[in-house]
Amino acid sequence: MKRFFQLIVVLAGLLIIAMIYNTLTFQSISSEEVEDVQVELVNDGIAERFAGAIRIPTVSHQKVEDINYPSFLTLHQYIDASFPEIEQSLQKIVINDYSLLYKWQGSDLEAQPVLLLSHMDVVPVVAGSESRWEHPPYSGAIADGYIWGRGTLDNKQGVFAILEAVEDLLTKGYQPRRTYYLAFGHDEERGGVQGAGKIAEYLKSKNVNAIYALDEGGFITNGDQFGLPGKIAMVNISEKGIVNLKLTVTGEGGHSSMPPAETAAAILSQAVVKVSANKLPVNTEPVKKMLASVAGDLSLHQRVVAANFGLLKPFVTYFAEHMPMLNAFVRTTTAPTMLQGSPKSNVLPTEAVAIVNHRIIPGETGESVKDFITKVIDDERVNIEFNGGFSNPSEVASVDSLGFEIIRKTIKQVSPTDPIILTGMLPAATDTRHYGDVSDDAYRFIYAEINMSENRFHGTNERIKVESYLEAVRFFVQLIKNSDGAESDPD
Ligand SMILES: [Zn+2]
Repeated sequence: MKRFFQLIVVLAGLLIIAMIYNTLTFQSISSEEVEDVQVELVNDGIAERFAGAIRIPTVSHQKVEDINYPSFLTLHQYIDASFPEIEQSLQKIVINDYSLLYKWQGSDLEAQPVLLLSHMDVVPVVAGSESRWEHPPYSGAIADGYIWGRGTLDNKQGVFAILEAVEDLLTKGYQPRRTYYLAFGHDEERGGVQGAGKIAEYLKSKNVNAIYALDEGGFITNGDQFGLPGKIAMVNISEKGIVNLKLTVTGEGGHSSMPPAETAAAILSQAVVKVSANKLPVNTEPVKKMLASVAGDLSLHQRVVAANFGLLKPFVTYFAEHMPMLNAFVRTTTAPTMLQGSPKSNVLPTEAVAIVNHRIIPGETGESVKDFITKVIDDERVNIEFNGGFSNPSEVASVDSLGFEIIRKTIKQVSPTDPIILTGMLPAATDTRHYGDVSDDAYRFIYAEINMSENRFHGTNERIKVESYLEAVRFFVQLIKNSDGAESDPD
């Protein structure tokens, strides 16, 4: 017994030493100080031009037949008319009729190009919610220091801030060293297959290999919800994938007065319960990377937890059960969403069907999730198949790359609030995943300040501060200058 206690004391001592060592050696990815830069914009009417684009409702409806495709052509014409320098100097390639790709040729043919991405489509306004908008959703009203309407955040903001920055630089006579591709898809809100997917195919056919790609999927917000001081800029370095599994049980059918021992609905229900009770394993890597990015800004007790996040896996697993947000960041999630049995109360089902929606964490795939679920259900009466296609999680972009350093430095130079840079994993999906083959690294960040508790992405009263939009334009101007100033990666 004494031996046993001695062993426990030794193990506890080793654990404490490991935790202290981890805490002391926990390093920020980059903490080099950056001087602020003042970017003067030369063109007038920047906010008004953006507001005009909000008035063109390029809505991605669920049903294809509801989509007003000519509105995308109206937006194309509006862009041509708004940016005369771009129309004159950049090569415009219309992809799949409605998506736009611009090529701004750089002087250095050896330098890797840059991909600046966004999307032109917006989500519909929920029927019945129109009256709750302080300014109508397609008014493009400029009032109270904001530009209002659908697309002001997600994501005509990106399209117009990028174009406005390039127009500004062209007006100033700027000649880029790198080549810039500006790519604007028309169906991001429907999965991006027809827009970003086709643009990426085109770029691949031209052997484009960008040093980095920058798309939506992160923003500037208050640090307090993460326990951090001041503002934070979330630059996401990966995004989760999606797979829907269809579970089907077939039965004899017949009248419900003489049921078999288990109906198809009962067998299916057991499978759904098993799937819910047996979650996919916890993976602490994405959160560890995220915490490492802010190491220098954590308090002592936060540092201890952050530095030992891997060691604390049993606790993380426990808390994930009770905290949906933590759960989404540490594993592939499991959400049974649709159930169907017989159409009538006294009819036995000939088929019972459930759809289970999974958001896949980097490191796993649609196939590996299906294998896991098949083992968990362990019942040959339940047929398990993919429901439609699936998209695997993205690659995890490097935080040691030149591309990341350019983005980090530019945010710090342009933002008056000097935000802490937090690199994370996006639990949702964007167009970025289509560009994996044509870019070394892909980052997700839009220059907009968001109050996360207001939920205006896809929501009511979507709006952006005029000043925030102007800063976004300055951000892209400085980003291009920094990208041209930086040397190419040696490898
Ligand atoms: Zn979007």
